[in-house]
Amino acid sequence: MSGTRILLIGPPGAGKGTQAIELSAAFGIPAISTGDIFRHNVKNETPLGLKAKAFMDAGDNVPDSLTNDLITDRLEDPDCSNGFLLDGYPRTPDQVRHLDEFLASHNTALDVVVQLVADPDVVVERLRLRATEQGRSDDNEAVVRHRLEVYQEQTAPLIDIFSSRNLVAPIDGIGEISDVTERIMNALAGRGITAS
Ligand code: AMP
Repeated sequence: MSGTRILLIGPPGAGKGTQAIELSAAFGIPAISTGDIFRHNVKNETPLGLKAKAFMDAGDNVPDSLTNDLITDRLEDPDCSNGFLLDGYPRTPDQVRHLDEFLASHNTALDVVVQLVADPDVVVERLRLRATEQGRSDDNEAVVRHRLEVYQEQTAPLIDIFSSRNLVAPIDGIGEISDVTERIMNALAGRGITAS
């Protein structure tokens, strides 16, 4: 396998989805958001969606087993053979193990973990706006605060795991979209990762 493999990690509301679109276009790789895949399944009332809905509405993580199966299926699609960007996965240590095994069994590895850093008060405000604009059922204030707690407890510790592998590029996620994208592109270039 060739290409670039990027993880985007950061609290809800840090702008991962927005930057995922920019990076996906710049690198010509698919942006894969487990949240988007789950929302699509919930909307279409698939068996997976029916299982995931209650967890999502409560702002809890969907169980690892469901999430890991979903991501294996998606990463085996042909469009991922030349790299991919993962937005919102992995979110737990078990998901990191699963992804590690998947990549090792395909003789490949991650190139970088982009950590979008944003102050909790700023992300709560951003998500409040998104709730008005997009009507996401998990964007009300109580659920947003819970999702931030879940991020702190279950996902933030992954940054240490990836830091110990020298993979983490911390990026200030506050500012204009294009400025944040530029910061990311510069940090990646500094690591020798450029869009060819
Ligand atoms: P997101 O769009 O990334 O904010 O995800 C929305 C919701 O989907 C989360 O609050 C979780 O309920 C669920 N979800 C998305 N990705 C994952 C994941 N990797 N592990 C578990 N649950 C997830």
